[in-house]
Amino acid sequence: MPVTTQLIHTTADWQQQLRDVITSRDALLGAVGLSATDVGHANGACEDFAVKVPRSFVQRMRHGDPRDPLLLQVLSSPQEMVDEPGFVRDPVGENGATIPHRGIIHKYHGRVLLIVSGGCAVNCRYCFRRHFPYNENQNSRAQWREALQLISDDDSIEEVILSGGDPLVVTDEQLQQLVMQIGAIPHVKRLRIHTRLPVVIPERVTGALLDAITLPHLQTVMVIHCNHAAEIDDAVAASLSAVRQRGITLLNQSVLLAGINDSVQAQLDLCQRLFSAGTLPYYLHLLDKVQGAAHFDVPEQLATKLVEKMTQRLPGYLVPKLVREIAGEASKTGVS
Ligand SMILES: *Cc1c(COP(=O)(O)O)cnc(C)c1O
Ligand code: SF4
Repeated sequence: MPVTTQLIHTTADWQQQLRDVITSRDALLGAVGLSATDVGHANGACEDFAVKVPRSFVQRMRHGDPRDPLLLQVLSSPQEMVDEPGFVRDPVGENGATIPHRGIIHKYHGRVLLIVSGGCAVNCRYCFRRHFPYNENQNSRAQWREALQLISDDDSIEEVILSGGDPLVVTDEQLQQLVMQIGAIPHVKRLRIHTRLPVVIPERVTGALLDAITLPHLQTVMVIHCNHAAEIDDAVAASLSAVRQRGITLLNQSVLLAGINDSVQAQLDLCQRLFSAGTLPYYLHLLDKVQGAAHFDVPEQLATKLVEKMTQRLPGYLVPKLVREIAGEASKTGVS
């Protein structure tokens, strides 16, 4: 275990970062010393999914590099307006029959996913939820009670996954309330949190957060979302190490993205860097074929070759599972 990390961040720090996000393409380009000409396209792309990036994430980008792998994840582009056949608005089949109740997605045995918040600290251009009807899934207090009742009534549910959007954009008080209610359900053994916040705003990991998401009789798992080694700077590593020290299992899921992390070297660097920060690679997702993200797609054949090469170079526990999400399947589908 790493040496004890002092958590120096306060609630005010991360909330300030969350308010102070960059929200325009021009401001983003300006912050990294680029012009629209440098990136080869003019403004005006994709009005329905705004640019949104925390400054701390921007500081990790290479200044003046239009191909920077962090920049490309968040910079809007006219390619998003290209309608590619096979790329649809709801690629994983979440918007329809799988929602028995607003805010709950119960697709897989034993696990239920709660949409705690529709918002994220960052808008990733490849996001499969870019067209998700979050407004229809914002629960009121009474609706939360009903959602928790549904979990109570189904004793096959052993794990509750807090997701979104990003569940960590809500306050620690709200999280604590929810976690206590989940913890009070006897058949729930595990709490899982799917979040990108510790990566994009590492200040989000405060003592109050760790208090809110840990209970003596619940095992907590945090699955972060990081696609490139350069996303993990010292501040992120320190926050992750603090999470580990609370006995929380840390896993990572990433998305295979053309031009960003689709080389063997980029993947090796990511897996090693994650592990040095106390995190195990969990899933490497093939892109969900969401409308507007076709330019990020990596063909399945290339992906399997890539993972083959990783397997030859890394210990087994550092190779993520290559998966694709297929609507209607009982689990994520392994690809090999
Ligand atoms: C991915 C996912 C899960 C978790 O699946 P694991 O294979 O256990 O990581 C649960 N519910 C939904 C709706 C999901 O998309
Ligand atoms: S953090 Fe996750 S849910 Fe939010 S925009 Fe990025 S990929 Fe989508």
